[in-house]
Order: sequence, then C-alpha cells, then structure tokens
Amino acid sequence: MKKIIALFVFSVVPFFCVSQDSDFSKYNTQIRDVKKEVTYFEIEKINNQFYMLVGGGGNVGVFISDQNVVLIDNKYEIIEDVLMTSLKKITDKPIEYIINTHFHHDHSDGNRAFGKKGIPIIAHQNAKKRMMEDAELYGGIYSTIKDFVQPKYDKSSLPVFTYESKMTISQGNEEIELYNFGNAHTDGDSVVVFKNNNIIHTGDAFVRYGYPYVDLNNGGSIKGLIDLLGALELLCDANTIIMPGHGSLSKKEDVVNLKNTLNDLYNKTIIGLKNGLSYNEISDSIEETLNGDEIVKLNYIKSIELESFRD
Ligand SMILES: [Zn+2]
Repeated sequence: MKKIIALFVFSVVPFFCVSQDSDFSKYNTQIRDVKKEVTYFEIEKINNQFYMLVGGGGNVGVFISDQNVVLIDNKYEIIEDVLMTSLKKITDKPIEYIINTHFHHDHSDGNRAFGKKGIPIIAHQNAKKRMMEDAELYGGIYSTIKDFVQPKYDKSSLPVFTYESKMTISQGNEEIELYNFGNAHTDGDSVVVFKNNNIIHTGDAFVRYGYPYVDLNNGGSIKGLIDLLGALELLCDANTIIMPGHGSLSKKEDVVNLKNTLNDLYNKTIIGLKNGLSYNEISDSIEETLNGDEIVKLNYIKSIELESFRD
C-alpha cells in the first residue's frame, strides 16, 4: 500500500509543477541583455592571493590557494566563458569549490554552468531552499519592477554543502568562515571571511550603490540588514578589506557609515509613523546621504512600515 501511495505522489508532483506556469519573460530578457552587453570583467588585484572580478553581475571574489581556486559568487550562466577567460588571466589552477553569498541570479546563476561540471557549491541552507523553487524577486524598494521570476535551479546547480549559522573551512594557509546573521538582504545570506588575508566578501548585505536593496519577497529585512552591518563591523579592524556585493572595495568605516545612515532612516520612519506623519513628511525629516532618488527613499520608508507591521 505504501508503495502505491508513493507511486501516486511521484506521478502527481511533476504534473503539479507543470501546471504552475511561471512567467520568466523578464528574467529571460535580462539574461539576453547580459549576454549581449557583458564581454569582459575588470580584474582588480587585492594581493597575490586575492582578486575581484567586476562587471556583469555581483562582484566575484577569487581566492588562490596552493593548488586551486575558490570563487565567491559566479555571476551568470550565460557569461561563464567571460568569467573563465578572466580567471585564466589570473591563474591556471582549477576551481575547487564555489561559495554563493545568496541565491540571486546576478550572484549565483553561474551555478547552472559550474554545477554541471561537478564543481561543489557551498551556500546557506535557506539560499539552497530558495534555489529549489521559482522565486519572484524585487518588490520592496524596487516595487516598480513587477513579475521578475527567477527559475529554480536543477539538481546539479544546487549547493552540496550548506550550514545554519556558521561554517569554517581550512584552505591552504587560510581559514574561511561563513556567517549567517539571520534575515537581512534575503533569508540566506553568507558573509564570507578570509581570516588570514583579512578580507571579507559581504554579498549584497553590504553594497555601494546607495540604498541597499532588501528582498522582502524572500525573507529580507531592513532591520535585519542594519543588525548584520553591526555584526560585520565587529568582524573588521581598520585594515580589513571589504568586497561588497556591488561597488568598489571598502573599509570598516564605510560599513559603519551605512549602518548609521540606515539606522537613522529606520528610527525616524518608526517615530514618524507613530506620530502620524505622511511618507513625505518622514522623508523630509531624513537627511539625504545615500544619493538615491526620492522614489527609492519613499519606497524604503514604505518597506520599513510593511516590515514593522509584519513583525
Ligand atoms: Zn542580491
């Protein structure tokens, strides 16, 4: 009887998935644009063991160990050849494994190429869960972008090693630590610390483009992001080099500045809402330091409101 039930379940599941048609048109358009527009990455050397690949998706960290290479993030499947060409300019050593900072396509879609080659992938357990389903991105501060659905990853593209709150990997002369500080940019972010090199890849938990995007559709939290920046600050000293998810190499003080700015925005929003202020009045009470436009600032305020009700 159990066998019959099992057969029934397995025969129903594929049908169920097919009937849940997702619209990938926006995703597909973006992938096509990436293929057209991204022909090379800038290679930024940090030291003899560390490089950053910039352009066409999130910043990729390249750590070169004695015998092999560790990548942090891998941009898009469609431009795997561009990534490999850039990597070959740095080293001939093979990729031993890849760490995903989170599940967003511009950081992890390379899994769809590298996973098939048998290169092991490491990520937070919730990032893997998100990759196993079609995921609607944006919302929150980018609520003007609707119906952007990232397709699920097939089995060969999924992380094979996951963790809950902290993972440590010994790699040659290096101790690599992965931290998850709870809900922040998503619910599956990894901050990746290379202790001996004193370099940290933050993924999109820390960025340099202005108001950091928080994926409220997929477990993100603005309050959580502020807390994460506080935890990140404690991992840094004055010499730590911080590789953001997007933007230029940074220092501890950049993290502290972003944390303080967002904290101010968060607190003034909560107080303003309690006092019955309008969104525009709240916005006027907050000094503009992130060079965002007014729409993004207002969307941030609305996102904080949404989140505080959710909690
Ligand atoms: Zn992201």
